[in-house]
Amino acid sequence: MHPPSLPDRSIEAYAAVTDDDRLERLRELTATLEDARILHLNSTATGGGVAELLRSIVPLCRDLGLDDNWLVMDAGDDFFEVTKAIHNGLQGSESPLTEAMKATYREVNERNAAELEKTYDVVVIHDPQPLGAIESIRETMPEAAIVWRCHIDLTDPVEEYLTFVTDYAEQVDYAIVSRSAYGAAIDGPETSVVHPSIDPLTAKNRSLDEETATAECDRLDPLSFDAPLVTQVSRFDPWKDQFGTLEIYRRARESIPELQLALVGGMAGDDPEGLELYERVAEEAVDDPNVHVLTDLPDTAVNVLQRRSDVVVQKSLREGFGLVVSEALWKRTPVVGSNVGGIPLQIEDGHNGYLVEPEDVESAADHVAGLLEDDERRRRFGEHAREHVRDRFLLPRQLEELLEIFLEVCDLES
Ligand code: UDP
Repeated sequence: MHPPSLPDRSIEAYAAVTDDDRLERLRELTATLEDARILHLNSTATGGGVAELLRSIVPLCRDLGLDDNWLVMDAGDDFFEVTKAIHNGLQGSESPLTEAMKATYREVNERNAAELEKTYDVVVIHDPQPLGAIESIRETMPEAAIVWRCHIDLTDPVEEYLTFVTDYAEQVDYAIVSRSAYGAAIDGPETSVVHPSIDPLTAKNRSLDEETATAECDRLDPLSFDAPLVTQVSRFDPWKDQFGTLEIYRRARESIPELQLALVGGMAGDDPEGLELYERVAEEAVDDPNVHVLTDLPDTAVNVLQRRSDVVVQKSLREGFGLVVSEALWKRTPVVGSNVGGIPLQIEDGHNGYLVEPEDVESAADHVAGLLEDDERRRRFGEHAREHVRDRFLLPRQLEELLEIFLEVCDLES
């Protein structure tokens, strides 16, 4: 296991985006938790929503005086092949789960757990990858409260995969899911819903001055910000359905011939499917100069694309939450997204974007074209979008809910 490098965060800066009462509550909660040692465990320091969340939560908790720590598993491709199959199986994709796969999962988890040098009062295991470490953690830290934070949509899993994971999950003291419907799959531990959130002060989400924005736009040449632009930002992953987004674009282009599409995707360290899918998507788009398949962009470039696109699309087939939706809405860009997982929590249909059934390319394309043809509607939706995210999906709210749970599992009261 290794600790990733972390940026600095200061709670003072969040006064600009949240009210004083909430900041005061965060200070009270962290003061009560000041002796608690907290550890987050996950399987990648870069790429994907979990790394994105921890990169803000951990330094901010430290700034508030908490002994908050984050360790990332060390593992090779064989392990990540297994855990991606588990992820896919939990989201409903059939594939065999063999005894050899289970053995790889157990061995790598035990090896990583054996490297834990310190003990903690709260251990938060993120997603299924490090969950196999639970028995070792129980042995070495019998006093620790173990929390499983599941970021995945568990509403339609393959039974064999669900049983494999819940055999571990049912040993935790507390579970956290991103939507109440996901909790039904977990029997045993007390379960709460905590919606993820975006950090409005990161390079990805903060406001950009004109000079920085223009420099980033120039770097994205030949993509033009003077012609209509639709963007999807997602790992290259079958569940994000970049081929479906291409279809939406092709249909919308029938009424808006100068339309451009940006498909932006990073590679997560724990996702072995990424490169192959990126190559297939790039190949599919190679003959269309108006489709830009972009990978491993710096956060400021992602920021500018989410901010300056006319419409953002999120054509997921499954989506635990989908931080990218709030990221775009926060930047006042309307989103047309699939009515799956966490997306309907974020898109208010006909108010800040549109929800469509995941297979309904035609409706998605009609909504994209409708928005592109109506500047006033885009502007209005953009204002609603900003306020919706301000109310519900910013970091201080999520932090407060997490700290309340830590208090409960530590048997503390504030
Ligand atoms: N992301 C990024 N660059 C990319 C693709 C994704 O920075 O090229 C980020 C994205 O901005 C978001 C996170 O990765 O913060 C993805 O989180 P989300 O919850 O949307 O999906 P996940 O990847 O966890 O399924």
